[in-house]
Amino acid sequence: MRSVSIFGATGSVGESAFDLLMRAGGADAFRTIALTGGRNALRLAEMARALRAEIAVIADEDRLPDLREALAGTGIEAAAGDAAIDEAAQRPSDWSLSAIVGAAGLMPGLRVAQRGGTLALANKESLVAAGPLLMGEARRSGATILPVDSEHSAIFQCLDCGKLDSVEHVTITASGGAFRDWPLERLPFASVAEASSHPNWDMGQRITIDSASMFNKALEVIETHEFFGLTSDRIRVLVHPESIIHAMVSYSDGATLAHLGPPDMRHAIGHALNWPDRAPLPVAGLDLAAIGQLTFRAPDEGRWPALRLARQVIDQSGAAGAVFNAAKEQALDDFIAGRLRFTDMAGAVEHALDIAAGRPHFGTSPADLDAVLAWDRAARRDAAGWSPAGKD
Ligand code: NAD
Ligand code: MG
Repeated sequence: MRSVSIFGATGSVGESAFDLLMRAGGADAFRTIALTGGRNALRLAEMARALRAEIAVIADEDRLPDLREALAGTGIEAAAGDAAIDEAAQRPSDWSLSAIVGAAGLMPGLRVAQRGGTLALANKESLVAAGPLLMGEARRSGATILPVDSEHSAIFQCLDCGKLDSVEHVTITASGGAFRDWPLERLPFASVAEASSHPNWDMGQRITIDSASMFNKALEVIETHEFFGLTSDRIRVLVHPESIIHAMVSYSDGATLAHLGPPDMRHAIGHALNWPDRAPLPVAGLDLAAIGQLTFRAPDEGRWPALRLARQVIDQSGAAGAVFNAAKEQALDDFIAGRLRFTDMAGAVEHALDIAAGRPHFGTSPADLDAVLAWDRAARRDAAGWSPAGKD
């Protein structure tokens, strides 16, 4: 029986993965090793009971009594805190999904890569902040990393038909998010609620806001670079409001292969779960006649400065990814808390990158998780210290 673990089980991606496992036979078909959640102990316990997990870990230590109570009498271990997530990630499992949001997701993915497991990677921040480290550990141990971000899963699937060295460029699509059609002068006044609604995808709040600012696409451009080893000039972004084509691979012979599907993460998660085979998934078929037309536009970097910063980060390399990711997370926290305007997030991130570029060893990729987290902490401080011109 295949063993599985989910890090970030109670989130949007985690819930979709849970749904797939339950539909595929649940505890009778999979041996679940570890499930982790951030704060929702009751939902985590429900999932752990349904899948008869070995251990359930809640990140927030204050929620441990609730988790223990909800699991009483089941024989399922309950634990809390980052060290417990670390320990759970080191337990052997055949397939592990990294679906914690933000830099907190780095550690479990890295542990799976270090122990040579199969890592289904939704946590794009891992590749942005620590790409060379994660990929290097996977190479050393023989771990398999399967992309779960829909665009990267799409590229991965289009590459089945050709070799990476015959790829001319890849294109990842972007819906354009909540503010695609807003007049530019309204953007500074966008509220958190307005930024938290996505036209096509149903996702966690942070990635939804990142979609509106295009920081999500910026992370994905860097993710593409780290995962597939393509230089920034071979990675294109195309605004595609219908979100039906997720990515395209253009080969040197002039052929372009596209991956199409409805915007449902269960496809990309299910693809990684079934890989290298394919199996039926509970995803709606594609009715192109009903959709009628697919439209495209070039992204406007004036509206979305995050895209320009992504290319800068790839070209700078070294610690730039760790700084970019952390500064973006801080700027997002500040926007959600009402301390920054929507359009000021890019300024805070650029400021943190500028400061970091003057520090020693900026050009060297962080060699371990502690080094990544040191850059991360400094970048959060620098981003938080920034204030837009005209304010103090
Ligand atoms: P989410 O906010 O819905 O869920 C995140 C999960 O992480 C939850 O289980 C939460 O409890 C847990 N968590 C949060 N903070 C934590 C911490 N400090 N320590 C431990 N656990 C913590 O997020 P999501 O939308 O499911 O996204 C998860 C990851 O997948 C992100 O990296 C995101 O970029 C990526 N991703 C998501 C989608 C999507 O459709 N939602 C698509 C592609 C990629
Ligand atoms: Mg994506």
